Amino acid sequence: MSKKRVDSLVVGAGFSGMYMLLRMRNRGLNVQVIEAGTDVGGTWYWNRYPGARCDVYSVEYCYSFSKELQEEYKWPERYSAQPDILKYLKHVADKFDLKKDIQFETKVTDAIYDENTELWTVKTNTGDVYEARYFVMATGCLSVPRTPKFKGMESFQGELYHTGKWPHHEVSFEGKRVGVIGTGSSGIQAIPVIAETAKHVSVLQRDPNFTIPAGNHNIDDAYLQDIYKRYDEIRYNARTNYTGVGMSDNGTGKSIKDYSREEAFKIMEESLGRGFAFNTLFTDIGYDKEADQIVREFFFEMIDKIVNDPKTAALLKPRTHFADRRLCLDTNYFATYNRDNVSLVDVSDDPIVEFTPTGIKTENNEYEFDMIVCATGYDAMTGAISKVNIVGKGGEKLTDKWEAGPRMYLGLMSHGFPNMFAITGPGSPSVLTNMVSSIEQHVEWVDECTKYLDDNNITALNPKLEEEDKWVEHVTEIAKPLFIAQGGSWYLGANVPGKPRVFMPYIGGLGPYSKICDEIANSGYQTFEKEQNTADVEAA
Ligand code: NAP
Repeated sequence: MSKKRVDSLVVGAGFSGMYMLLRMRNRGLNVQVIEAGTDVGGTWYWNRYPGARCDVYSVEYCYSFSKELQEEYKWPERYSAQPDILKYLKHVADKFDLKKDIQFETKVTDAIYDENTELWTVKTNTGDVYEARYFVMATGCLSVPRTPKFKGMESFQGELYHTGKWPHHEVSFEGKRVGVIGTGSSGIQAIPVIAETAKHVSVLQRDPNFTIPAGNHNIDDAYLQDIYKRYDEIRYNARTNYTGVGMSDNGTGKSIKDYSREEAFKIMEESLGRGFAFNTLFTDIGYDKEADQIVREFFFEMIDKIVNDPKTAALLKPRTHFADRRLCLDTNYFATYNRDNVSLVDVSDDPIVEFTPTGIKTENNEYEFDMIVCATGYDAMTGAISKVNIVGKGGEKLTDKWEAGPRMYLGLMSHGFPNMFAITGPGSPSVLTNMVSSIEQHVEWVDECTKYLDDNNITALNPKLEEEDKWVEHVTEIAKPLFIAQGGSWYLGANVPGKPRVFMPYIGGLGPYSKICDEIANSGYQTFEKEQNTADVEAA
């Protein structure tokens, strides 16, 4: 089997892979992207479930690298629906002629590092073999859907879907009895839309989640023109602040306990519709139990006001701390439970035992469904990377190295795997920020880094083990006091049985993180081991 030689092999053609391709190609590298889907889009190619929508402002959930691109794509809504984001990414692919370097409908199976040649050999399920100096995993943080292994699942005779792997054909709910498992962001978005046409929707809820109204609305040209005038400032803020969202509020800068209950409730009420600004309203709701209780009570009151049936309202009240998990943004979620065709089934008290040919059996009940939708989440952050057989120096497998949890320096590279990069890998701010801001920061850092290697005849770059250890410890330490690092969310891998419980993203904020990355680059990558090709120097 002949190997195709490229400079850089990139896995994934979503926001990350597309930009990585463009950056490296623009400076003359020969880049090959491998993508499993039939088109570009990544997350937005696969996540086509009803109601799928971004929870970051459209004008910020898009690339900033091209002023022309930034101003030519007219976003119709404040928060984009999936079809609009996918259309945007296809537009980007066409505008920059990206598809000629993307091999679609192909999965990377193995990536093996050769210490002698300092090259990666990358194999695919289509039998192609590539040899590359740089190997970039641009595979996304939430790209491996997870369906619990329910007994008898294959016996179910109706339609069965996962939100993260929604079919490309039209799915009709008309006249159907639909069971939805899961009430995270995906379920909370899908349920109100499914309920509009289904005969009946039964929501099988284990843990209720905190959700606020997204406040989505159409945007017009006047709105966009105003953004264009302020874009530089918005983008600067996004790259230097904590959240990666340039238009995010600073909050009150005070403890919630500095306010009376009425005042605090008013502040929270007024912030509804301003997205994740809610998270930063007060300084102490992420770690202080009393502060947390005030926020919880605000939500309980909101749910009681919206939901007519007191029993359903009680079940919808989260039992966790507010900041244990990612806040969800919804459109009419709680009000959906006032519909006659929607019922809430508490599967925390009466767990799912098995699927049957006609539906689902719980410990004490049996439900008949024509369709079951699993909104059961993802094997987050490490799932896609671990699916590839990645073998580094000394024949070490990445999955073995990560047995007790992922170990990456800056979420970008892992010791023993030279010249392999991950875009928004574990240990980077990624999922705690606007993903597109984080992706651009990472891609640009990787591009500059590989340019530095090329310019200086450095053939292999490997993070020093002690630096990686320090970073992993730092990521854990700064999150430790916070509820988010103690709860049971996918941030910790807690949703995947057997997955080590490690808080995976870096909570120090995108701005401070970028500064650290820049300082390392400016120091000439002092925290890395470097192999230099001295042949050219000697010959000279
Ligand atoms: P998720 O937050 O992990 O939620 C999965 C849901 O499935 C939870 O309600 C979970 O219940 C339930 N579940 C899992 N196994 C179950 C079982 N055996 N029995 C009953 N219930 C079970 O997944 P997600 O909703 O797909 O969201 C994941 C992340 O994707 C989000 O946090 C967000 O970062 C991203 N996302 C973003 C958007 C957006 O931009 N708006 C939309 C969708 C997703 P428990 O809580 O009890 O485990």
